[in-house]
Amino acid sequence: MREPVAQARVGPPVPFREPPLPRPSAGDPRPGYAGLPPGALALWLEGQGEPAYRATQVAEALWSGRAASFDEVRQLPVTLRARLAGAFRADTIIDTQVRPADGGLTGKALHRLHDGRLVESVLMRYPARRDRRARTTLCISSQAGCAVGCPFCATGELGFGRDLDAAEIVDQARFWRRDLLATDERLTNVVFMGMGEPLLNADAVVDAAAALSDPARFGLGSRHITISTSGVVPGIERLTGLGPQYTLAVSLHAARPALRALLVPLERRWPAVDVVAAASAYAERTGRRVTYEMVMIDGINDTTEDAHAAAELLRGRLAHVNLIPMNPVAHTPWQPSAPERVEAFASTLRAAGLSTTVRHNRGVDIGAACGQLAAELAGQPTPTAVERRRRLLVDESAAALQLAATSAS
Ligand code: SF4
Repeated sequence: MREPVAQARVGPPVPFREPPLPRPSAGDPRPGYAGLPPGALALWLEGQGEPAYRATQVAEALWSGRAASFDEVRQLPVTLRARLAGAFRADTIIDTQVRPADGGLTGKALHRLHDGRLVESVLMRYPARRDRRARTTLCISSQAGCAVGCPFCATGELGFGRDLDAAEIVDQARFWRRDLLATDERLTNVVFMGMGEPLLNADAVVDAAAALSDPARFGLGSRHITISTSGVVPGIERLTGLGPQYTLAVSLHAARPALRALLVPLERRWPAVDVVAAASAYAERTGRRVTYEMVMIDGINDTTEDAHAAAELLRGRLAHVNLIPMNPVAHTPWQPSAPERVEAFASTLRAAGLSTTVRHNRGVDIGAACGQLAAELAGQPTPTAVERRRRLLVDESAAALQLAATSAS
């Protein structure tokens, strides 16, 4: 069953600051093409007295990236193009601004939706290395804003706006497919790690992942799709029931409960031990190892005690751990862990038999941590508000560290 967002919110609600961009006067009731169930367009065309092959012509043009609108599907009669545009949106994204970074290896897109909401996607190119082929990975958003409120995250600071529908999620990938066509590149991986908690919008995320992995639609293999969660246990169980072999990524961030409750407020509802148990069941069912993400924050969750706690929690699991130095964001006093501290943490995990990778931040100069661009456009909080928030986090993290130490002794 889908989790109601309101129940998952931890702590007082945070108002979503509306972006100051012009907003369309009304919402658009036409469904997005990319969110239609398979066969739905063929049925609609049949009802219009059109032959079934018209659906194939539309699919080939829109999913391949050769066309962005019905008007660009030149094989169709002009009148049919107009009727299609009257009934469906070929693209649910109204406009997109792209900022490149890392010498062109990273691109961050800010997409505006029909109601003025802003969501982000980030494209990361990884050149070929000795042991790996080149990859082009796209990180997409599943919600406008987020209700979870992880304090190191700019999206969490924005608060919750609304769920995206399946078409709005998939259209981020379709945007980049069209963009990459110009340079003869192709997407190799899609990760649901942008704005929002994917498994608090599980219906749309499951539909979007199905469209992305369907050979007759976007056509990316399910093994090239990663669904991330900060620990929504019912959502993980739902994925386990589905069976397709998506990669599951869990944002662990800390194994000691008091500290994790500070960094991932969902800990109070679904503790890490339950999250890891559910993720392990997923790994057993699919045979795919689960990726555990840990954002590394200097002096907060990068201590020897934290490394040992994480090693104990994950020891013997079908797991891979990614350690990611925190992307600095304005509203926190926190800084990324020093490289030697991250390496020491990684060594402890490896000594426990856990495969571990230290990742590097991408696009720090363009605010590539999710939500940073949208937060920028929504208007930065006042310096006084930032200072108050920072002081609160200092107090809360001191209390969490004290509690974690007391629980251990
Ligand atoms: S890290 Fe993810 S789950 Fe946490 S607030 Fe940000 S978007 Fe939401």
